[in-house]
Amino acid sequence: MVIKNVNVLVGDGNIINNASIVINGNKIEKIVPSDCAVADDNVIYGNGMLAMPGLVNTHTHAAMTFLRNYANDMNLQDWLFTKIFPAEDKLTAQMAYWCVKLADIEMIKAGVTCYSDNYFFMDDAARAVEETGIRAVLSRSVSGISDPEGKKLKESCDFFKQYNNTADGRITSTLGAHAIYTSDTDYIRKVVECADGLGSGLQIHLAETVKEVEDCIAQNGVTPTEYLDKIGYFDVEGVKIAAHCVHMTDNDLDIIKEKGVSVAANIGSNLKLASGIPDIPKMMAKGINVSLGTDGASSNNNLSIFNEMRLAGLLYKGLSMDPLMMNADEVIRLATANGARAVGNGCLGEIKEGNIADIILVDTTSPSIAPVGEPAAAVVYSACGGDVDTVIINGKTVMAHRVVLTCDEEEAVDNVNQIARQILG
Ligand SMILES: [Zn+2]
Repeated sequence: MVIKNVNVLVGDGNIINNASIVINGNKIEKIVPSDCAVADDNVIYGNGMLAMPGLVNTHTHAAMTFLRNYANDMNLQDWLFTKIFPAEDKLTAQMAYWCVKLADIEMIKAGVTCYSDNYFFMDDAARAVEETGIRAVLSRSVSGISDPEGKKLKESCDFFKQYNNTADGRITSTLGAHAIYTSDTDYIRKVVECADGLGSGLQIHLAETVKEVEDCIAQNGVTPTEYLDKIGYFDVEGVKIAAHCVHMTDNDLDIIKEKGVSVAANIGSNLKLASGIPDIPKMMAKGINVSLGTDGASSNNNLSIFNEMRLAGLLYKGLSMDPLMMNADEVIRLATANGARAVGNGCLGEIKEGNIADIILVDTTSPSIAPVGEPAAAVVYSACGGDVDTVIINGKTVMAHRVVLTCDEEEAVDNVNQIARQILG
């Protein structure tokens, strides 16, 4: 496959104008000037497009699409315990399949080529991911309060064994406890033991609210990050993602840095639940790998990394009153190369020879983007998910001219509308 006549935003701050990207199998074979002769049996014409690395959403709960626009304007604890958990109890495996399918379609249409998911009914999530063609790290999230006999933890381990590195490498897996406030210490230790035994990484929600931090200090005398560090949560091998990290001390950040934990910042979700604002510039200054997540559709209320990039590009300038804070290239890296590092795949996140072909084409002739001027600025400050024209994942075209080719979009929307009516009334 060749993408011809395209401007390439490499992802390392450089632009290559008027190039051809040659894709062989699932790899980027070479990037050459457009006038070079290349085999052209399968050509995508990229005129007026900007090719960039696919976006990585490092924290979401894909199946929560059925809760989109339900239970808004509430604080996290009330929202979670009085609205979300009771609604989730009514979700079935087949429903989850459709909800994940809708999430996958939504993300593909907004240029997300890889995401990290923490939820349940993960066999059904995997089935949806296999069909839609997206790339995902799937974690059967567990919590001690809902798993007194350890059945769900076993399910999580079995899922890892069955699915890690399947679907031509598009599906990988980790374990993960939901958060420190939904599991006791013994349970979290068991999760760590299982991860060690399997060679799996771990994910967790960390320091999302002031309440979580204050409760932890009251109960354990240390912050949530120090508490997890003591249990050995950050000593496992592989992918380590801490979602949120809104309320972190300097020592907490030093621990995260030392243990090689990636942060999934969920700016939109934290703003909406009024949890606070993660200090991304400070984390970056400490050399921590920071990436962007959307969190579930129930607290965002969509799964657009373009929206998160725009927030990241604007918010820290306003807070610091420094217009140089978080420039467009830095913001793009959060959503591409850093995201790739967070999910443990060094062959994603930049358009360069030898990397896996997860590439999106952004239509720069769109009235809200043209004239494109500085391409990185166009991506962060002008573009939205709807400007993505074509999506290639693992060397395969999964969306062309805004039509998802792998599954039926209307069918997924209809099914999830019906599920929402059935569960939420
Ligand atoms: Zn979350």
